[in-house]
Amino acid sequence: MRHLLSATILVILTCGCSFAQKNEEVLYQTSTINALLDEIYDGNVTFGELRRHGDLGLGTFNNLDGEMIGLDGVFYQIKADGIAYPVDDLMKTPFAVVTFFESDETKEIDKSVNYKQLKLFLDSMLPTENIFYAFKIEGAFEYIKTRSVPRQNKPYPPLVEIVKNQPIFEFHDVKGTLVGSWFPDYMKGINVPGYHFHFITEDKKAGGHLLECQTDNVRIGIDYTSNSYLSLPEDDDFYNAELSKENRDTLEKVEK
Ligand code: ZN
Repeated sequence: MRHLLSATILVILTCGCSFAQKNEEVLYQTSTINALLDEIYDGNVTFGELRRHGDLGLGTFNNLDGEMIGLDGVFYQIKADGIAYPVDDLMKTPFAVVTFFESDETKEIDKSVNYKQLKLFLDSMLPTENIFYAFKIEGAFEYIKTRSVPRQNKPYPPLVEIVKNQPIFEFHDVKGTLVGSWFPDYMKGINVPGYHFHFITEDKKAGGHLLECQTDNVRIGIDYTSNSYLSLPEDDDFYNAELSKENRDTLEKVEK
């Protein structure tokens, strides 16, 4: 009887653990970066659905209508004018990655570093290059340079063409947050290998996809994530897309 009882308790505990893990230690992603590079700019996942899978993340909108940043459970749309707009639950995304953010490690950098130096600093914080990471870097920045992308109409041009005329925004002495992801090289084709950051100002009025920065005093939070959930579109555009191409050079032009 005693054995039976402990077995029951064990089962309950195990279920409890895996349930918590299911909700919190998963990077949820819709579609793939190569689909975006193959002009799949429309998806069927709503932001109402997306918020069930995470409170922090980044991505874009249907018609490639700007850069998305999710922070503390609120999603923002940085349109081609650089302004952050509220996101309606019924709006949809063709590409996004979110997680329920919980720092596994935090660190402050009190010296000023540029984006390249920041990445090297973050490299030194990663315990392995074989899992996924989400980042929340908040504080004061001496400089931030971002871009957004203008809303597109069909027939869609390639992303590499669109970013040739991408609007650029610069911020000086600004407070705000960088939300980011890091994926291993072996994930190329699925997501952006290495770092990918989107920025939003502290007053949540502006931001974009990060191109360059100079930190002042920032606090870094890293969420180690060993699970991923990939949700793929079920439509003809996605079914007919060419997703196995080697896009490293294109990705370099589009995301860096
Ligand atoms: Zn981006």
